[in-house]
Amino acid sequence: MTISNNILQLKKNLPSHVTLVAVSKTKPAKLILEAYEGGQKDFGENKVQEMTEKQAQLPNDIRWHLIGHLQSNKVKYIAPFVHLIHSVDSLKLLEEINKQAQKNNRTIPVLLQFHIAQEETKFGLNMEEALSILNSSGFLSLKNIIIKGVMGMASFTENKNQVISEFKSLQQIFTALKNDFFSNSIEFDTISMGMSGDYEIAIQEGSTLIRVGSAIFGGR
Ligand SMILES: *Cc1c(COP(=O)(O)O)cnc(C)c1O
Repeated sequence: MTISNNILQLKKNLPSHVTLVAVSKTKPAKLILEAYEGGQKDFGENKVQEMTEKQAQLPNDIRWHLIGHLQSNKVKYIAPFVHLIHSVDSLKLLEEINKQAQKNNRTIPVLLQFHIAQEETKFGLNMEEALSILNSSGFLSLKNIIIKGVMGMASFTENKNQVISEFKSLQQIFTALKNDFFSNSIEFDTISMGMSGDYEIAIQEGSTLIRVGSAIFGGR
């Protein structure tokens, strides 16, 4: 199977409201180009340096998604081109994204990352932290960011019921925030959840964007 075939197979079974982000971390630019030439435009990277290096050598209309933990001091490197930052987990980071977006004369779309897994190690906000960001006066003054929705990662487990309930919790968070903060925003429409091992469950539970790496590019 070639990469383009893997993508075609995947896309064939996706509902039309679900965006496929091909997660290309650790894979060379050559393989990204192969997927691109097969029609794939959305790619996900988890490291700033790797993303900027690849962006510089690949076509300009690729939509780059930053899906990994982002440090404030690195925002400036991706601010000129990043399509969507999935991993916002603090007001400080939002403020820096806003500042760098302003410098680049643009608005940067972001997702709030929530901690939905049992595992301790995964990054992300809980509801209380998210509410404190959204209710802060600092947040209201940020004109160069646009909150597009939420992102989360389920536990890495064979227990399907656990994965289902974690994805359900993210869907509920999305709905609660939509009702309480973004009811007038047509932009708040994205639930980024689902990876190679669990994207089918994620779609059943309301995902609008899946981030798939190894099922497309092979193992890492
Ligand atoms: C690596 C990664 C993915 C893709 O994982 P696969 O299991 O290879 O599909 C998705 N989301 C995030 C945040 C990742 O770091």
